Amino acid sequence: MKRFYFLLLILISANTFAQKTALRAEVAKKAARIEQKVIAWRRDFHEHPELGNEEVRTSEIITKHLQSLGMIVTAGVAKTGVVGILHGGKPGPVVALRADMDGLPVTERVKLPFASKVKTTYNGQETGIMHACGHDSHMAILMGVAEVLASMKKDIPGTIKFIFQPAEEGVQSGELSGAELMVKEGVLKNPTVEVIFGLHINSQTPVGNISYRPGGIMAAVNDMKITVMGRQAHGAYPWSSIDPVVISAQIINNLQTIVSRNLNVTENAGVVTIGSIQGGIRSNIIPEKVEMLGTVRNLSKEDEAMFIDRIKTIVTKTAEAGGATAELKIPFSYHYPVTYNDPALTAKMLPSLKATAGADHVRLKPAVTGGEDFSFYQEKIPGLFIFLGGMPKGQDPMKAPSHHTPDFFIDESGFVLGVNALSNLALDYMAMKK
Ligand SMILES: [Zn+2]
Ligand SMILES: [Zn+2]
Repeated sequence: MKRFYFLLLILISANTFAQKTALRAEVAKKAARIEQKVIAWRRDFHEHPELGNEEVRTSEIITKHLQSLGMIVTAGVAKTGVVGILHGGKPGPVVALRADMDGLPVTERVKLPFASKVKTTYNGQETGIMHACGHDSHMAILMGVAEVLASMKKDIPGTIKFIFQPAEEGVQSGELSGAELMVKEGVLKNPTVEVIFGLHINSQTPVGNISYRPGGIMAAVNDMKITVMGRQAHGAYPWSSIDPVVISAQIINNLQTIVSRNLNVTENAGVVTIGSIQGGIRSNIIPEKVEMLGTVRNLSKEDEAMFIDRIKTIVTKTAEAGGATAELKIPFSYHYPVTYNDPALTAKMLPSLKATAGADHVRLKPAVTGGEDFSFYQEKIPGLFIFLGGMPKGQDPMKAPSHHTPDFFIDESGFVLGVNALSNLALDYMAMKK
């Protein structure tokens, strides 16, 4: 009897395997067929970039496309975001796929026929606007995924929510990031999303490759403001001062011991940076006050809590030791949680990525100390965020221009793998739930 069940199990899993392979082959065929369309969408977005929460034209194009595929579409989510819902022909879980939409205040220097010539004033400065992080690629890829999956609707066991999210790159102080606002407005509800997938193109990873990391893949970000209050005095008579400059120097040095002495560096990286220090007006006056701005990066919730706790102690106690007082605001204006790839979900989806890209082209990557607001979705539900190769083959990654720079360049031949990867992640996840 045991043997019978064992054989049955083998038959069922062989059948699911065959179904998955057949669906992946269909996705690959359809993705190849629309590759040129995906590239054309990307070039159009690239030529007409818009800053965070101003993605009006971008939003219209996406809305029309999703509507043309017969989806239920809601525009104006979290200001300029668009959400499309595709109900498959069979019952099953709700899976979300996400692309971000915003460009950056960067003046493009790349010689492309579709290079951006858009100009604006940002923080009082004249600047160009450029898709210098590759979010144009993300939108075009997700529009491609929408087209592929909409054409396979009757075979899909579940629902797919296509989330086009504005303002990933950070917003003005006091505003919420695109993802945070979308979550607040209920993007993960009605219907309730079970799991979310997203990707980021990378200008320093060769085309044809996918990289991933279970756990923290991108950092939690907290900015901070430290104000040290002392007593002003003549620079010639420091004994009558409480010198906030010397105390600030001690604080900066003591803060560096968190990474070197409190963090288990064999597990995760962490960063404390003071990027701005302001105090005093001339050489012979000890000022009353010094203000510092800094950024703190962590790859786990536990590390983040430990860092904040240590920063509070070091700032207040170092000031106290020097007879001064200090005020700490953390986060000051900006907080992104850690972009945390649920380890169980990552392990479960790894075969899907390997079947799509080829096992040799799926690589484990070191964590990134930059932040990503995909983390706000992952705070609520399990999610997987991967990196997609966008660097021309044969180029030296060290010489490839990085994201957020005027020379940032993406090789479009990498898009089709993105369309396949996201489509298969959704379909394979659903197949596993059956
Ligand atoms: Zn960016
Ligand atoms: Zn980005």
